[in-house]
Amino acid sequence: MAVLLHTPAYSQVAGALTYLSAQPLPAGTLVRVPLGQRELLGVVWDSASPELTALDPAKLRPIAAALLDLPPLGTHWRALITFAAAYYQRSAGEVALAALPPQLRDLTSVQLARRLSRPARRPAATPPATPRDLDVAIEDVALTAEQQRAIGQFNANPGPFLLFGATGSGKTEVFMRCTAELLAQSEHSQALVMVPEINLTPQLEERFKARFCARYGIDAVVSMHSGMTPAQRLKSWLAAHQGSARIVLGTRMAVFASMPQLQLIVVDEEHDPSYKSHEGARYSARDLAVYRGRLEGAKVLLGSATPSLESWHHSRPALEGGRYQRLEMPSRVGSSAALPAAAGSLPMVAGALPLVRRVDMNHQPKGCVISPPLLAAIGERIARGEQSMVFLNRRGYAPVLSCNACDWKSTCPHCSAYRVFHKIDRTLRCHHCGFTERVPRACPDCGNLDIAPVGRGTERLEEQLAQLLAELRRPDGRPVNIVRIDADSTRFKGALEAQLSQVHSGEVDVLVGTQMIAKGHDFRRITLVAAVNPDSALFSSDFRAPERLFGLLMQAAGRAGRDAGNTSRSEMWVQTFHPTHPLFEALKRHDFPAFAQSQLVEREQAGMPPFSFQALVRAEARTQEAAQAFLNLAAQASAHMMDAAQLLTHITLYPAVPMSIARIANIERAQLLIESPSRTALQRFLHAWQTVLHASRSQPECKGLLRWAIDVDPLII
Ligand SMILES: [Zn+2]
Ligand SMILES: [Zn+2]
Repeated sequence: MAVLLHTPAYSQVAGALTYLSAQPLPAGTLVRVPLGQRELLGVVWDSASPELTALDPAKLRPIAAALLDLPPLGTHWRALITFAAAYYQRSAGEVALAALPPQLRDLTSVQLARRLSRPARRPAATPPATPRDLDVAIEDVALTAEQQRAIGQFNANPGPFLLFGATGSGKTEVFMRCTAELLAQSEHSQALVMVPEINLTPQLEERFKARFCARYGIDAVVSMHSGMTPAQRLKSWLAAHQGSARIVLGTRMAVFASMPQLQLIVVDEEHDPSYKSHEGARYSARDLAVYRGRLEGAKVLLGSATPSLESWHHSRPALEGGRYQRLEMPSRVGSSAALPAAAGSLPMVAGALPLVRRVDMNHQPKGCVISPPLLAAIGERIARGEQSMVFLNRRGYAPVLSCNACDWKSTCPHCSAYRVFHKIDRTLRCHHCGFTERVPRACPDCGNLDIAPVGRGTERLEEQLAQLLAELRRPDGRPVNIVRIDADSTRFKGALEAQLSQVHSGEVDVLVGTQMIAKGHDFRRITLVAAVNPDSALFSSDFRAPERLFGLLMQAAGRAGRDAGNTSRSEMWVQTFHPTHPLFEALKRHDFPAFAQSQLVEREQAGMPPFSFQALVRAEARTQEAAQAFLNLAAQASAHMMDAAQLLTHITLYPAVPMSIARIANIERAQLLIESPSRTALQRFLHAWQTVLHASRSQPECKGLLRWAIDVDPLII
C-alpha cells in the first residue's frame, strides 16, 4: 500500500512510498513504517491501486505497526490535504504529517491505546444548567435588528458568508448563535472557529467556553494553537478526531483539524495576515477554510470590520459574479453583549463610531512628535479620568543611531538593515537576525562622542509623553501613569496579561504601543486613540500597504468608546502630512465600502489581485548573484518545458530582484514574481515548472544556493 511520510519537500522521495501489510488497511489509517534506519509515522494513502499490486512484493518492506485504535483519517480530510499540497506546490506527505499533532509521531501503538482508553469526561458530569447560569443570562440578551437579520440570512442560505460588521457591532454574538444553531441540529455536528492569534482574543475563547461548555460539557470546546504543550495539542486533536469535541477554537493550523462531523467553519478577522503560513506549505487558512467548507458541505462564515479586498470582491452581488453572500452589520452595539449579564437582560443602545480628527502636521511646530492639539486632547482625558491610546508602528527607542561627525550608522553587520537603538538596556538590536550589542560609547569609525538617535520608536514616544504630561494630575491627584505594550514589553510569559489587566483596572491613563494594541482588545474606558505617524504606508511599494493601514486605523478607532457612556466623546486622531489623502477621507466617514471600491478600481486598472493571480519564488543563497541566477535560469528554461507554448500563455515571469531586505543573517535573498489573469493557468504552469526549478539548482551559476520555495497567493510582495 502507498504510505505518505514527512519527507523533506522537493526531496527525491517526495511522493508516497509503498509498503507491505499483512492485513488490508483502509486509507487514512495511521501507521509506523521503516525508512532507512528510522521508523516514521505515516498515513495510508492508497491501499490497492493497480500500479501497487503490480509491484514485486519481495522488494517491499512491511509496515512496522498500524495504529488501529484510532479511526482512519476521513476521505474529506485526505482530499483537503491533497488539494492543499497541489495548490501550494508542496508534497502531500509534508502537508499531511505537518497537519497532525507532533506528539503523534512519537507514540507507539501501545502508548496510543493507553491514551485513548482514558475515560473522557461526559457532559453529564457537569452540573445541570440553572436559570442563573451566565450562559442562560447571556442568551437573554436581545439581539439588535441587524444581528437578527444576519442570523436569519445565515440560516436560510448555504453561503459562504462574509459578515461585514463594524467593530462593536456584535459579530461574536452572531458567530455564537450560528454555532449554537448548527450544533443543535445533530448531536454529533462539529464547528471550527478560527481566530488570528489566540492570546489577542482571550475574550472570544472565554465567551465560547462559557456558553458552550455549560450546555455540552467541559470537554466540548477545545483549543488548537502553537502556544499549547505537545500533550495538550494531542489531547485536543484526539477529541476533535473522535468527535467528542464539538467546537475547535484555533489559529491557522486548526484548518487541518480532523473533524469528521464538521458543519461550520467560522473565520474571525478574516483579513488578518496571520492566517497565511510563512513556512513549509505557505497556505492561507482562510482560503482553505472556504475550500474545506465546499468539500465537506459545511457552512463557512468569514467575519471582519475591514475585510480583505479579496473577500470583499468575492462578496459583491451574485449578479456581478460574487460567490460569497455579504451580511452587513454597520451599527455599533452601544452596550455590548460581552458584559457579564448578571443583571439579566441588557438594553441595547446603538453606539456612535468615534469622530476622526486629522492633524495637518504641515502646520504644526517643526519636529514635534505629539502636536499641541493632540496633547491638549490627551490632557482633557486625563483630567476626566479617561484613557488614551497612542500608537506608533515601530518598537525600540530609535530605528537608527548615527554619528554627527562622520557618516557612521548602526547598520547590522549581518543584514541589509539598521540595528534599532533600545535605550532601556542600552543595546543596538537587529530586529531581523537578533544580533545585539551594547551601544558604543563613541562612534566606532571616528571616535566622536556625539552619536545620536534618529527617528522614533515606542520607547522614545513613551519617554516623550512622560515629559509632556509630567505636570498633569489624575482626578485622584496622582501623577499620570503611562504604560507601553509592544513585543519588547511583553517578551516574558504573562507580561501581556499583567499589562492588560492594569489597563482594564483603570490604573493606566495613557497606553503607548505598536499595532499590537490596536487589535482585538476590548478596552472599555479608552475615549481617544491616536496614530502618531501613519504616513509611510501611503506611498509604499507594496500594493497591499494602504489596505493594511486602513484596516489598522479602523481597528484602532474601534478601540475608542466601547463603553456606552463614552461613545459620544470618543475620538480617533491621525497626525499626517497628507490630511486630504483619500484614505483618510474614507476613514473620517468610517466608510470601508468607499475605500474598498477605490482600491479595487486601482487594482483592476493595474491588473493586481484579486483581478490577477500571483506566485513568488524566493531563493536564498550565499551570494545575491547565485540567488538571482537560479531564478532567472529557471525562468529562461521554462521556455523549453513540454507544452511550453500552451503553459506560458497568460503567464508573466518578471526578472529576479533582491527582496526588500536583501540580506538577513548573512544570507542573500532574491525573489521572482509570476503573474497570471487565470488561476488555472498559474497552477498548471507552477506544477510543470517544479521540475525545471529542481534541475536549475545544479547549474554552475547557482553555486551557493541554499534553498528556494514557492509562495502561491503571497501577501507580501
Ligand atoms: Zn563617526
Ligand atoms: Zn541583523
